[in-house]
Amino acid sequence: MKYGLDTKCIHLEEPFLENNLYGSVSFPIFQTSTFAHPGVGQSTGYDYSRADNPTREQLEHIVDQLEGGSGTIAFASGMSAVSALMELFKPGDHIIAEINLYGGTTRLFEQISEKNGIRFSMIDLGSEDIEPALTKDTKAVFLECPTNPTLKIIDIRKIAESCKQHGILLIVDNTFMSPYFMNPLELGADIVIHSGTKYLGGHNDTLAGFLTANTAELADKLRYISKVTGAVLPPLESWLIIRGIQTLGVRMERAQSNAMAIAKWLLDQPHVTRVLYPGLETHPGHDIMIGQSRGFGAIVSFETDTAQNARSILERVRIIRFAESLGGTETLVTYPITQTHGEVKPEILERVGISDRMLRLSVGLENVDDLINDLENAMVPWGRG
Ligand SMILES: *Cc1c(COP(=O)(O)O)cnc(C)c1O
Repeated sequence: MKYGLDTKCIHLEEPFLENNLYGSVSFPIFQTSTFAHPGVGQSTGYDYSRADNPTREQLEHIVDQLEGGSGTIAFASGMSAVSALMELFKPGDHIIAEINLYGGTTRLFEQISEKNGIRFSMIDLGSEDIEPALTKDTKAVFLECPTNPTLKIIDIRKIAESCKQHGILLIVDNTFMSPYFMNPLELGADIVIHSGTKYLGGHNDTLAGFLTANTAELADKLRYISKVTGAVLPPLESWLIIRGIQTLGVRMERAQSNAMAIAKWLLDQPHVTRVLYPGLETHPGHDIMIGQSRGFGAIVSFETDTAQNARSILERVRIIRFAESLGGTETLVTYPITQTHGEVKPEILERVGISDRMLRLSVGLENVDDLINDLENAMVPWGRG
């Protein structure tokens, strides 16, 4: 029997350890750094929590099952997952990366990975083919979809086909969609990344990261890197993410319907000059999105007519909080130019279209009328057109 997605958020199709849990319905937090051995050369299956911990393993199985992977490793944050991933590569290797990535990922590539001898070509994977950027040293393509914060849609199947032809890995950061709405491995990706801090955790209270691989061999390599380098997810945090994922389905559905209503409302606002949400039929990536995902997510970006108006919204919202991050129950508004993309080079900001008039909403689960009223009140002093 194959479980549906909502069931997979709550139950493992193949439970493990279930005979050792005394019937506990909530998975226990194994808050221990080490495990005693029954005898010389014997192990309970667990030796030391950097290598393996049952609470983390439970979580890894859940995320793996949701992404349809062949092995998932949980990390202390999204960035520690990405930096562990970079240990697959060696000096001289070349990676083709989408130009409009999460700012922290671009910063890791430029400040750390390049120093370690890995080279990058940043291209627009929404409109450019990978072939002109390929070199004999190219080992992977790295992308996010929708992109952050401009919500550009990339045809993942098309990029996956090119990657297969050239024998290189496709790595997809699926944080914005969550496994509830999209499964990149099904579209041909080899590795999926999540910042579990966002939708998987879902409550703006825990940092976590994940790598899911499409083969056991690749998963074993990544697990070895995580054990050796050590940025693993601790037991309590693992439990908090298990708890968060239980409601992933209902949260994603509600956040998405709120996001759609807000995007439509923004379209009619006189001081809003552009609304970016893939759920709008007018969004250039709308049809690709329908072909590769089960939803549109709950991130809405928009531009105001002046930078002063953008800043005024940030300071006048009351229910909506002016804070970095996304994917929680609370609606947050972000100013990409000073926050998530504060360290991205001006020429890249200009190329991808991030200006000082752009705001990004991570729409949460509040009453949607309250959210719209909050935005409306924040906009009122400018007059009605
Ligand atoms: C937040 C985020 C990350 C980084 O994750 P952390 O948990 O903050 O380390 C990576 N990619 C995307 C798309 C993100 O939104």
